[in-house]
Amino acid sequence: MAMLEIRDLNVYYGGIHALKGISLEVEEGQIVSMIGSNGAGKSSMMNAISGIVKYKSGEILYKGQPLPTAANKVVRLGVCQVPEGRLIFANLTVYENLKVGAYLRSDKDGIERDLKRVYEIFPRLEERKNQAAGTLSGGEQQMLAMGRALMSKPRILLLDEPSMGLSPLFVGEIFKIIEDVSKAGTTVLLVEQNAKK
Ligand code: ATP
Repeated sequence: MAMLEIRDLNVYYGGIHALKGISLEVEEGQIVSMIGSNGAGKSSMMNAISGIVKYKSGEILYKGQPLPTAANKVVRLGVCQVPEGRLIFANLTVYENLKVGAYLRSDKDGIERDLKRVYEIFPRLEERKNQAAGTLSGGEQQMLAMGRALMSKPRILLLDEPSMGLSPLFVGEIFKIIEDVSKAGTTVLLVEQNAKK
């Protein structure tokens, strides 16, 4: 059984048919990438999975069961999105942003362990933990957005254009980290314009 299955999903914004009958399957442990140009509907698909955008028809199944359409329930099940443009909290520190990622958790020890792990994956975040997140570089903000998502202890990570706006060096680093996160047991669905990567 697929971990995540999307069947014939359609999203409309008023009269605009933004996502046109997408179907895909993500097996546990896989990294599945969807490639599409500007306006193809990639973010609409991710936001529909996350419960941020309502879909008009189709199905989203998580481990064979319909995925709830309320965002907080989706996160509780372990489906967590790193949004396009990162959407970090600019006025909070790096550490505070990471703590926000664990908002729905109450296992203090587990949260501490995962914070350590995030700092191991992204040493740069530990160096800058007391810095306001808005002062980070683009690449560092992408790291923070991924770190924040990892703090929710996701079973599947949804990455919306992680390479957007990053220098080639950072793009390489981010994709290497995506592989590492996958190897450590998190399933990944990612959408990109960067087809080569
Ligand atoms: P990009 O790579 O440029 O981010 P995308 O593939 O992620 O594009 P979406 O952001 O899903 O594409 O947008 C798909 C289509 O839906 C576009 O034509 C966009 O203009 C339109 N759209 C997206 N959000 C809205 C909205 N809130 N209201 C109206 N139209 C929207």
